[in-house]
Amino acid sequence: MIELNQVHLTYSAAGRQVPVLAGASLAVPQGESVAIIGPSGSGKSSLLLVMTGLETPDSGTVTFDGVSLHEQSSDTRADLRRDKIGIVFQNFHLIPSLTARDNVALPVDIAGGDSARSRAEAMLSRVGLAERMDHYPNAMSGGERQRVALARALIHQPMLMVADEPTGNLDSQTGEAVADLLFELNQENDATLILVTHDPALAARCERQVRLHEGQLKSVTL
Ligand code: ADP
Ligand code: MG
Repeated sequence: MIELNQVHLTYSAAGRQVPVLAGASLAVPQGESVAIIGPSGSGKSSLLLVMTGLETPDSGTVTFDGVSLHEQSSDTRADLRRDKIGIVFQNFHLIPSLTARDNVALPVDIAGGDSARSRAEAMLSRVGLAERMDHYPNAMSGGERQRVALARALIHQPMLMVADEPTGNLDSQTGEAVADLLFELNQENDATLILVTHDPALAARCERQVRLHEGQLKSVTL
């Protein structure tokens, strides 16, 4: 369902070249869960951006749901993300002027879907934020914001869920609840789950673990 083939990515910053991906390859069938591990700075977040079409690789291909992602226009890639991909970013990208409910409802509103408000409320309840629907992001804790971001990323029941350290800012109990939701949707919807984590216990819950090292992905056994 998603396949990376020999992906290369080098950033240029302040006149220096920073090689990040150097022949990264990975094939993930529909419904599988995969953990990506690797030290800070190894390129895990960049890898997720490439997978979701938010960053264009220098070379190599990403095939998602049968289409070569980077051969599409940026509008087509945005449509694919809106319809089929849920991304939980490391920094939450919530809209400060919108309540939790409206942040979560936004993707459904934008896509012209029905009952955005009640679906947002259902998702927020599922992540334990029934009492926080009317709060603005700056009136919520880091963990609460992370759960709003999760609810927003998953409200459209995407076939691919991509999460960048989804439990990184959470206490262990909340982290477990967030992980539970990801794995429930993985099972219920046969949705593919790709998550980056530093937590060995969370990585172990995935069917497969791969390590990003020197720009390449290798299967590991925990
Ligand atoms: P990780 O998520 O594994 O910590 P990142 O993908 O965030 O790693 O970053 C990989 C490397 O690329 C780091 O050295 C980082 O400083 C660099 N980097 C990330 N984004 C950019 C960017 N937009 N421009 C230049 N360098 C970047
Ligand atoms: Mg990162």
